[in-house]
Amino acid sequence: MLELEILDYRDPLIGVIVIFTIVFIASFLTYSLNIYKEKQSRKEYRKLLQRFELGTLKEEDYTHLYSTYNLPFDSIILLASTFIYEGKHNKAISVYLALLEHVKEPVKKEELLELLGNAYFKSGLLQRSKDIYLKILKFSPRNKIALKHLLLIFQNLNEYNRANEVLDALEELDEDTIKERTYLNILTIIDDPILSFETKSTQLFNNFIVDNNLERVVANYLIKFNKELFWNNIEEFDAMKIIDYLWYLDFEDIDWEKVNQSDILKEIYSAKGYILDEAKQSEYFELNALIAVKHSPVKAQLDLNFEFICRKCKKTHPIFEARCPHCSDLFSLVVEPKLGKPTINLNSLV
Ligand SMILES: [Zn+2]
Repeated sequence: MLELEILDYRDPLIGVIVIFTIVFIASFLTYSLNIYKEKQSRKEYRKLLQRFELGTLKEEDYTHLYSTYNLPFDSIILLASTFIYEGKHNKAISVYLALLEHVKEPVKKEELLELLGNAYFKSGLLQRSKDIYLKILKFSPRNKIALKHLLLIFQNLNEYNRANEVLDALEELDEDTIKERTYLNILTIIDDPILSFETKSTQLFNNFIVDNNLERVVANYLIKFNKELFWNNIEEFDAMKIIDYLWYLDFEDIDWEKVNQSDILKEIYSAKGYILDEAKQSEYFELNALIAVKHSPVKAQLDLNFEFICRKCKKTHPIFEARCPHCSDLFSLVVEPKLGKPTINLNSLV
């Protein structure tokens, strides 16, 4: 009986059956494991999708979407850019940093570094932004995005010599650098620690005479540091382009002899209420309305407010800056007077 059993086990047919059984069990286990994994994965994906719908994606979700779910790189970048538009720069930085660890292709790495540099720049971390852009230039010296950002960073950090070097590099890449050179020259004069205010104002004024893009920057400087030079040359300025500066001048800081020689200045200061009966009307709607109010027996709380509109991107800004804070274009903000309630001068706060 025992011999028969041994014989049975040695039967080749039994051996084949045993092997088939083992293979079947192994396949079944693998199949079940795969189904389990897929179920888990679907569950995770549903959770992720729910977070996406709720707008609460976490930083690691982005890398997950890229490395596990193979969502295209451009789509991930587009999703992450929503943080930038919402002003959540730190979140954007975390996403870019997390993605940098997973992305292998040099082109995508370069794009991510550009975005990271920009996010640091927008959050005011200029030193970090500078480091990122310098890193990009090491392997991609003709990267214009990096060069243009470095120009702004060096200007903001008062590193004018380095800014000039960047302009040289941009010029070699056929970029128009005229306005940037002019502005850099102006900044270098203003920040020169040795030149006197008088020399600085004369040099700035001479620059304005050859390039009236500098009108507001120079008028602002002269009003602050050399009112005499400003009033002596008031006819060189277009009063309506610097109306906010003129509007907020104190009565005693105004050269009334010069005002008497100019119709537009008489209109502005009649509208302001500094002088009466000098101008009865104005071709400018806002000035005309204010002059009418000043002559009316009904006293209304009416004043001029100012906002600044960029000629390039058309965005408005409450404070004047030489460079548009939205599109970074130079000398593109123009002053727009508006009738409104009396308010404080925002420009006096900066
Ligand atoms: Zn702009």
